Amino acid sequence: MVRHNGVSYRAADAHAHIYPGKIAEKATASVGTFYDIPMRNVGLPHVLAQRGEEAGIDRFLVCSVATKVEQVRSINEFIQRKCQEYPQFVGLAAWHQDVEDVAAEMDDIQRRGLRGVKLHPDFQRFQIDDPQMLPMYAEASRRGLPVLFHTGDSRMDFSSPRRLMRVLEKLPDFTCIAAHLGGYTEWDTAREELRGTNVYIDTSSSLFMVTPGQAQESIAHFGVSHTMFGTDFPMWTPCEELERFFALGFGEEENRAMLYGNFARLFGLEG
Ligand SMILES: [Zn+2]
Repeated sequence: MVRHNGVSYRAADAHAHIYPGKIAEKATASVGTFYDIPMRNVGLPHVLAQRGEEAGIDRFLVCSVATKVEQVRSINEFIQRKCQEYPQFVGLAAWHQDVEDVAAEMDDIQRRGLRGVKLHPDFQRFQIDDPQMLPMYAEASRRGLPVLFHTGDSRMDFSSPRRLMRVLEKLPDFTCIAAHLGGYTEWDTAREELRGTNVYIDTSSSLFMVTPGQAQESIAHFGVSHTMFGTDFPMWTPCEELERFFALGFGEEENRAMLYGNFARLFGLEG
């Protein structure tokens, strides 16, 4: 439980990255370089569990990104194994735009008990609205697997909120999470371009940069019922992100929804 102003909240971290031990240091460092942000932690599963526990978080949506199609199966095997080792983890699968047999890969993902898919268009170098990706989105949607997108980066165009909106115009039922308040460094554009009843956002890697007023505007646009707390671990530490989250000044019911309720509903977990 997370405590704030005398109230206890159940809390989930809806955006966390984990890496296998062999590559964790290097992978963490390269993400830090890409975003020019010093990483607070190393992205190891036990470090996430420990930092989360210190903060009172007892659920974590964990993922890892495949930059080559050959990595998809081994990453998914790793995420599956870590979810078995850490029952507090809810696993997202890796995917790659070059996967040929969409249905077979989805079967494999579901066999492993993974609950959705994580995509990072900027690292993976594909445009969110690439027609090649549409069958995958449709299949994920049909199977009830939400897709978490890294969204937004004003330095490039792969993951822009506008491109995600083009997908939603074609597939309005597609359930997705536009990370980083709908678009990292493109918060205003995200509010202008992106809307839809199945679009969720997370608060990760944004609260350090936007004003509380901007964050409140984004949350109001997408809705408290479609906003989830997330840390983007290992970028940030759960304790410091929770402080930034509570500084937004939402009321108890709204905090409850964003810290756990929405996450539990979206992934079909116990209330
Ligand atoms: Zn991420």
